[in-house]
Amino acid sequence: MEHQKDALAGLRPPTAVLTRGFDPRLSVGSARPAVFRSSTYVFTSPEAAERAFQIASGRADPLPGEDIELIYSRISHPNAEILEDQIVPLEAGAREAAVFNSGMAAIMTALLTFLKPGDSLIYTMPNYGGTRHLIREFLEPFQIRSIPVLAGQWSEMEQAMASAQRLRVVFIETPANPTLVMTDIARTAEAAARHPDRPLVMVDNTFLGPTFQHPLRLGADLVIYSATKYLSGFSDMLAGVALASDPELIRRMRARRILFGNILQPDECWLLDGRLPTVPLRMNRQSKNAQRIAERLVEHPMVRTLHYPTLFTDAEQIKIRLAQCEQPGAIFSMELEGGRRGAFEFLRRLKIARNAVSLGGVETLACHPRTTTHSSLSEEELDRCGITDGLVRISVGIEDWHDLLEDFRQALDGI
Ligand SMILES: *Cc1c(COP(=O)(O)O)cnc(C)c1O
Repeated sequence: MEHQKDALAGLRPPTAVLTRGFDPRLSVGSARPAVFRSSTYVFTSPEAAERAFQIASGRADPLPGEDIELIYSRISHPNAEILEDQIVPLEAGAREAAVFNSGMAAIMTALLTFLKPGDSLIYTMPNYGGTRHLIREFLEPFQIRSIPVLAGQWSEMEQAMASAQRLRVVFIETPANPTLVMTDIARTAEAAARHPDRPLVMVDNTFLGPTFQHPLRLGADLVIYSATKYLSGFSDMLAGVALASDPELIRRMRARRILFGNILQPDECWLLDGRLPTVPLRMNRQSKNAQRIAERLVEHPMVRTLHYPTLFTDAEQIKIRLAQCEQPGAIFSMELEGGRRGAFEFLRRLKIARNAVSLGGVETLACHPRTTTHSSLSEEELDRCGITDGLVRISVGIEDWHDLLEDFRQALDGI
């Protein structure tokens, strides 16, 4: 497929995502990719098999344009290859991608590829509950030291970078879940580049990427997604993706993926692949809906504070938003009057929005982070991160925004 890539070089992302990486001749002419469920692949010759193993094991590099035969689906399969080729143009600055069977699988594989016992890792707080759990409960006992820094507090980041020993990874999630506090990606990447250990900067870009935030362009090394969210967009599958400008980083992660057995399965690859062309359409609509709703709900007397990028008041946060986010995105959180009771009453009264965790789907979802997604944090951590009793998180879908606004207003009025 190399020749095809060259012919189509230079296309803009919405075109490239539909034309790159898929050759209909390899799917008996079908206009959209077929699903290849086979677990194993037939070699054209023993020599081709030997060569495929040399390359898969990293003992040899493929020659330019060389056709390398598939071996076995845990190593790779046609639907993963198609998806990995087609997703690259969506991420500005990316040259290579690897797909995993969940966002957590992508995060775990990234951390276990680049960290070993004795190394340390810095991560921003608050962040996705599973990521924090993985770092604290699983990596720490393997002698991987982790240093949390509060999102939006640059002095904490500087201090952590100055004190860390064998610093290999700086893992940032921006905007932070669920408070939307932002971390400066370019500044983090510059500080990492100056650091004697030259740690990799990894960005969990699930909330705003790939449409509105481009960490690789800002100097990050690795971008990670829970494709369960906006990339797939219909709350009906689990998937994860890692992308990088340096193909070597992805090749190293793929070598781990072979051992872990956490490649995304063919059916899921096919499903996710079909959703890619509409990612920017869905995200733009969702972001516009959320902005219209958030900027009106902030006036409601039952809303104490509303966390949303266009409503930031902190000068530093506004500067970061303007520098690294093209649109504010479709997630906001609000602290309601009446604490936990107020928040629960609000959730109980919603008629269109559903009370569920997860985000990024075409349908609107609402949840209470303190008692659900972030319930494993200590009281002290919750308070430090601003995850209060009255806080609800909303992921806005593609419904008509007037209907959603009315739904939120009637639920707020009823508290
Ligand atoms: C959902 C989520 C994850 C985990 O992804 P899964 O696909 O559920 O494994 C990681 N990071 C963020 C920001 C998420 O929202």
